[in-house]
Amino acid sequence: MNAPATNLVPAVLPAQYRQRNVHFINGQAAEPASGEWFDAINPSTGQAFAQIAEGSAADVDRAVAAARAAFEGPWSKFTPAQRQRVLLKLADLLEAEFADIALVDTMEMGRPITPSRMVGDIIVRALRHHAGLATTIHGYTPGNSAPVDLTALVMREPVGVVGVIMPWNGPIFCAAWKCGPALAAGCTVVIKPSEHGSLTPLRFAELCMEAGFPAGVVNVVTGHGEVGAAISAHPDIDKITFTGSSATGQKIIAAAAPTVKKVTMELGGKSPNIIFADANLDVAVPMAASAIFNNSGQVCSAGSRIYVERSIHDEFIARMREFAQGMVVGHSLDPATQIGPIVSARQFERVCSYLDLGPQEGASVHLGGAPLTEGYMADGYYVAPTIFGQVQDAMRIAKEEIFGPVACVMPFDSFDEVIARANATRFGLAGAVWTRDIGKAMRAVKAIKAGTVWVNHYHTMDPAVPFGGYKLSGVGREGGFEHIESYLQTKSVWIRNDI
Ligand code: NAD
Repeated sequence: MNAPATNLVPAVLPAQYRQRNVHFINGQAAEPASGEWFDAINPSTGQAFAQIAEGSAADVDRAVAAARAAFEGPWSKFTPAQRQRVLLKLADLLEAEFADIALVDTMEMGRPITPSRMVGDIIVRALRHHAGLATTIHGYTPGNSAPVDLTALVMREPVGVVGVIMPWNGPIFCAAWKCGPALAAGCTVVIKPSEHGSLTPLRFAELCMEAGFPAGVVNVVTGHGEVGAAISAHPDIDKITFTGSSATGQKIIAAAAPTVKKVTMELGGKSPNIIFADANLDVAVPMAASAIFNNSGQVCSAGSRIYVERSIHDEFIARMREFAQGMVVGHSLDPATQIGPIVSARQFERVCSYLDLGPQEGASVHLGGAPLTEGYMADGYYVAPTIFGQVQDAMRIAKEEIFGPVACVMPFDSFDEVIARANATRFGLAGAVWTRDIGKAMRAVKAIKAGTVWVNHYHTMDPAVPFGGYKLSGVGREGGFEHIESYLQTKSVWIRNDI
């Protein structure tokens, strides 16, 4: 790995951010009912740099009341074109201050500053895409065979108040990606950001007000799991959209069951990345490394199980090792850094436990395999990008979502064998196949049980293209028409024509 970074932007919160951050309810700052706070900790340094309000069920009640009032009141009066206009304005405002937003996300959750800045493009593009969708919502008039003369109208209506429960691995991305289509559809939202990514979602809500959304349309209640649990069970919330771990998703579905809330779940993964012998390794090797090491492997669709056809297996490992050794691991605010720290002390301990587990289970270590503690890194949560070899499918490192920069590389001998092994997982979020044989690629695409399959590529997302999981990886889709659909419900109207 390259030397630790030195060329740092000072870690100072931009002027529009506060040292002490309260909730955002009904268009204004709102003190937490608990009177309690927790620290935002920079994972690059282990240092606290701001305080965040500890939310509770009482705060959720206030936010839901505001969201309901806005949904029934001023927001319901906005025409589709007016919703489009405020969403476009929001996209402009986010674009204008994205440098600061990227900096704050990086300070709070540790993604290196250069990729943090690059995320701005897709976020702004997504909001403009969602703005466009606001004016495309339409019902239809099906022919019907009723015994009397009746016209049937099928109308689309916004679902209502949406609880948005988010993970930490993309705070502003997740806020915009989830809220854009909800707002385009005419819903109001109560956002519960991750405890490790609260500041830019709070700023997102402020910018919504500046863009012209009425008070109460976008609310944010910060805090820990209790806030998410209160949202999941709240009787006046109509839908939950959640991104996070499968275990938490299961709890949310259970909590939402008594009130039969609609749910969209974007959950975990253990995605297979299949490299056939005829793949273009000049492209496959760096993309396979990026697919697991980007954002320190803290990406739901990370290509964590790399299956390599046996005839090129040793060459692939040697080339991936060489490529990964050249990646810059270091402080997230250094523009040269490619791999930053793990988000928190807790996640760091968890990832390190898998680094210990690999060799105990019989895996060999081709690269990394340990935390990085030299110099300033001792205070942060740094893990070396790790390549495990001699991995068996039955090992826990090959089965469980590590959510760290840890690749399991495994040889295979035949097409049928690798497809069966790729699918032998409880997850089904994504996968990739690398081959120059289009027929083989398409057979693999059809056989892989996952919501997204990339061919000779990895990790691209676009607001026009659905993303979501099979099996334990989720329910519903974000992106594509499915996304705005998930915030709409259908009302059928019968009109008698003969009186
Ligand atoms: P997490 O499940 O621990 O937490 C996610 C959110 O849920 C947080 O805001 C947390 O406070 C809240 N929460 C915790 N307990 C809750 C409860 N009982 N009820 C309601 N809310 C609760 O996930 P994380 O560690 O923040 O994120 C990492 C996970 O997210 C990984 O498993 C990853 O694969 C997944 N992820 C999935 C996608 C996707 O699109 N499929 C995207 C990003 C992350």
